Amino acid sequence: KKSKGHYLVPYGEYDNIIYENLMNEQLIINNISTSLIHKEFMFYLQPKYDLHRKKIIGAEALIRWYHPQHGHIAPDKFIPSLETNGFILELDKYIWEEVCKTLKKWLSENKPLYPISINVSRIDLYDDTLVEFLQKLLEKYQLPTHLLELEITESAYINDTTQIIEITQKLQNCGFVIIMDDFGSGFSSLNMLKDISVDILKMDLKFLQNKNHPHRSKIIIRSIIQMAEALKLPVIIEGVETQEQADFLRSIGCIWIQGYYYSKPLSIPDYEKLLDTNI
Ligand code: C2E
Ligand code: MG
Ligand code: MG
Ligand code: MG
Repeated sequence: KKSKGHYLVPYGEYDNIIYENLMNEQLIINNISTSLIHKEFMFYLQPKYDLHRKKIIGAEALIRWYHPQHGHIAPDKFIPSLETNGFILELDKYIWEEVCKTLKKWLSENKPLYPISINVSRIDLYDDTLVEFLQKLLEKYQLPTHLLELEITESAYINDTTQIIEITQKLQNCGFVIIMDDFGSGFSSLNMLKDISVDILKMDLKFLQNKNHPHRSKIIIRSIIQMAEALKLPVIIEGVETQEQADFLRSIGCIWIQGYYYSKPLSIPDYEKLLDTNI
């Protein structure tokens, strides 16, 4: 009666077989150019939500790869290889342009505009043409700089800090909002903050989920919020999944959240529908 599901290949396991094959680096490299040509890459938008105003304040663009044979492949499965062989920049540039096209479309439709943040790989930061590329992109689609925010993962700052600080400052001077992604997940986060100027800290609850010591996680989150407040740095918490987490965050003065609790990443039409209710 209820045993049917038993005979299906478990979704996760089946995924792993596909991923193992795909993790073959050469395969990914061979696939990437054709996949770009065939437009198999796209992005989803995950809303960022203001708990006080009960409104969407923007979204993050998250890449998705729909491979004709292998189906949906998660970014964690192919981005590391692309970072190793340097192909990531080409792919990121493609996604960023697609994001700008979407913003331009909304602009021309007179839709209310909220910023979209893009993920910038650590590898992208070493490209001399990055700043110019981003500026030209905004010019091409006639977009104000504040609409395109940049998420840089904290671990990008660990090695070669001077180079990264320099490029981050250049981007800030151009008017880009810099979000430090995955804040707290690395080793040097607290010490780093004295040297690096970022505009927003983004902390992921996933790194703090500690089933044995939930009390400790709460203390850590609270102290990070207090420190950020003292440094006058706005914070957004990602990976918020439950009402309980949202309530706790609200109680300690954290108002910007992102996570399955409010919404999972959405296709562009679904995000547009949600925005229509954002009044
Ligand atoms: P990230 O930038 O830290 O993005 C957050 C990840 O957490 C996303 O996974 C998102 O779908 C997931 N997430 C959101 N809310 C929740 C939640 O409530 N619970 C849990 N468990 N997870 C949640 P995703 O889309 O698989 O992306 C993984 C990573 O891949 C991203 O981490 C980012 O580092 C990278 N990535 C994604 N898109 C791009 C891109 O266009 N370019 C580059 N260079 N990297 C990207
Ligand atoms: Mg991110
Ligand atoms: Mg993150
Ligand atoms: Mg994350």
